[in-house]
Amino acid sequence: MRVAVIGAGVIGVTSAFAVKSSFPSYDVKIFADVFSPDTTGDGSAGLWGPFLLSDTPAEDISRWAGSTHKWLEQLWKAGLSSETGVSLLPVTRVNSDYEDGAEPFWAKLVYGFQKISDQQLQRLNEEHKSNYRQGWHFITYTAEPVLLLPWLMEKFVALGGKVERRNIKMLHQLAEEGYDLIINCSGLGARELVADKAMTPIRGQVYRVKAPWAMHCILVDDDACNYIIPNIHSVVIGGTHQEGDFDRSVREEDSKHIYDGCCRIMPSLKASEIMRAWVGLRPGRPRVRLECESLSSPMGKEFKVIHNYGHGGSGVTLSWGCAMDVVEMIRNSKVPELNSKL
Ligand SMILES: Cc1cc2nc3c(=O)[nH]c(=O)nc-3n(C[C@H](O)[C@H](O)[C@H](O)COP(=O)(O)OP(=O)(O)OC[C@H]3O[C@@H](n4cnc5c(N)ncnc54)[C@H](O)[C@@H]3O)c2cc1C
Repeated sequence: MRVAVIGAGVIGVTSAFAVKSSFPSYDVKIFADVFSPDTTGDGSAGLWGPFLLSDTPAEDISRWAGSTHKWLEQLWKAGLSSETGVSLLPVTRVNSDYEDGAEPFWAKLVYGFQKISDQQLQRLNEEHKSNYRQGWHFITYTAEPVLLLPWLMEKFVALGGKVERRNIKMLHQLAEEGYDLIINCSGLGARELVADKAMTPIRGQVYRVKAPWAMHCILVDDDACNYIIPNIHSVVIGGTHQEGDFDRSVREEDSKHIYDGCCRIMPSLKASEIMRAWVGLRPGRPRVRLECESLSSPMGKEFKVIHNYGHGGSGVTLSWGCAMDVVEMIRNSKVPELNSKL
């Protein structure tokens, strides 16, 4: 069985690793034109948390994000943090846009979830000179892609997985080269590769700073959107989420918004050393696409594709759960002809 995975971002690498681990006899190869440390996830802090997922159903998000949370817990408990970039940290998530009083659907997936009391909210608003209307405290993981991706890639190759740097123009190219199954993890690249015009960039600008004294994540989940996310050797401060914006250059006005906003929340950041500014384009879609399709090439070669892309602002958060669904699709005959060849 020959399997081609298109994409070496967090979605492609987790899918490839999961498929190769579950079906060791398969010949699995990753094709991509961009690898770590230049993929979309590499600039991110890799905080676990559903974010910018548009109309993706809550039950799907819960299943994928819940499975990823358990996987991160296993990596953490196995003592693999320094290699995988998995850290456990307290999070305060607040917003000023609305107050519905409802528990978010993911509340039970994290540790120690607590609604912030009115009194605490008032204190935070005084401290941050803000107008938060509701918020939560909880504990969860970060998995820094810049560490996680090379670690996963090394494990994948050790299992016999193969890798090739190549731009793929059409899916059927690979079918004609003899691949039976293509797993399409091309992120925003799906706009061209499979002409998915529902894919749209959600531009995100961040800074990485040195501030080893910052050990608490604060996420202001509203339109203005500021956040402070500690990683192992640096802290990511952000951010922006500009839909439909392809500009990958660092913008002065965004830098000011990030720096002023984050220093207002945590004044000690004024003493931090700026390491770099970075812009990434999140692969936005009205809903994550994770499904199987049967296609045939112009030469009449039939092949299967599992699409796994469009993870918006939550690629790290959903990665392992989606990779497990890919494995289940193969195992549970959702890719029927493949199973008959097993
Ligand atoms: C500022 C910012 C902060 C973020 N923070 C977080 C966070 O804290 N937590 C979280 O969960 N998520 C976060 N995200 C979102 C997360 O980074 C993305 O959802 C995730 O990286 C998407 O991964 P991907 O593998 O789908 O895409 P990508 O990383 O973009 O990878 C796509 C891959 O497909 C390949 N490809 C595409 N087309 C072709 C082709 N035709 N031929 C060959 N190869 C092709 C590319 O070369 C690349 O290897 C953040 C994003 C940004 C921008």
